[in-house]
Amino acid sequence: MSWSIPLGRVFGSEIRIHLTFLILLAWIGAVGYAEGGASAALDSVAFVVAVFACVTLHELGHAVAARRYGIATPDITLLPIGGLARLARMPEKPTEEIVIALAGPLVNVVIAAVLMIFGAGIDTTTLSSLEQPQFSFADRLAAVNVVLVLFNLIPAFPMDGGRVLRAALALKLGRRRATDIAAQIGQATAFAFGAYGLFSGNAILVFIAIFVYLAASAEAGQVGLMEQARRVRVVDAMVSRFEALPPTASVDDAAEALIRTTQREFPVVDGAGHLRGLLTRDAMIHALKASGAATPVVEVMTKDMPVVGPGAFLEAAVRLMQETSAPAVAVAGVDGRFIGYVTQENISELMMLGAADWQRRPKAAPSPWGRG
Ligand SMILES: [Zn+2]
Repeated sequence: MSWSIPLGRVFGSEIRIHLTFLILLAWIGAVGYAEGGASAALDSVAFVVAVFACVTLHELGHAVAARRYGIATPDITLLPIGGLARLARMPEKPTEEIVIALAGPLVNVVIAAVLMIFGAGIDTTTLSSLEQPQFSFADRLAAVNVVLVLFNLIPAFPMDGGRVLRAALALKLGRRRATDIAAQIGQATAFAFGAYGLFSGNAILVFIAIFVYLAASAEAGQVGLMEQARRVRVVDAMVSRFEALPPTASVDDAAEALIRTTQREFPVVDGAGHLRGLLTRDAMIHALKASGAATPVVEVMTKDMPVVGPGAFLEAAVRLMQETSAPAVAVAGVDGRFIGYVTQENISELMMLGAADWQRRPKAAPSPWGRG
């Protein structure tokens, strides 16, 4: 359950709305009603909906720019704190990242400009009192778009400004070093925001600061992971000792295996050694409740698992997992036989070991597997 409901598709991206956002709308409506009756409630709710329409267009700006470089955006989720466009992968070229990052704020510049052409006025009082009803709807909406541009250009992750900064640094320093510096600048910015928020008693600012701080650390971690994944071969990272289920197994057999082993997912492998699918613990439990213990595993397993060769770099497996949202990536040898799999947990364990400077012992004999 993802706590968000789909609204529809635009340019190939599913627009989803998070349930907490609906709660925010209801709350704003209730406050408006208590203060100024039904018309005030309607005005407040309409304004928030208009603001989030602008946020959605901002995210679509990123999505359209990403598509130019062949990067899909499977979904865009609206949260009370803003929009979140999930790109299938991150652009590797700094110039591409700059274009994609700037495309979002550019949309808000255009919206503000259009509103101003149609007579909206912006001055500093509109900017500081957005919720004041003495300004017209268009004035306030134009002001919000200016705020969205300024806020997003703050040079800190996860704001677009942070991405532009990282990409600009990456042109000279390489991605890893650029991300570390950009993350540090982001954390310093977050710290300054937080301190200012504390002294001025602005709780929202403190909240944003914590959010920005965590996002900066997460971004640095993600890039570090990809950096390591680029050096490790799949064969050195995969789960190679596991219990598999035959295609004839039932969910009951799988439940037995779940208890007997520490595995959380079970490959379903046929007599010829080929992978037919993967049964996850969640799917197993869901099937037990929905259709009972006698359900064949082939009916509830995840089919069409992404596959890599053992000689491929782990980076390829991480990418496939992110792009397909599959629970694992299967590893098959040149003869097509299933030899292991890579899971998210697997990768995080490897990263933890990497962080502790652990290196796999060099093998006595060269790996028998070719590059995948
Ligand atoms: Zn953005």
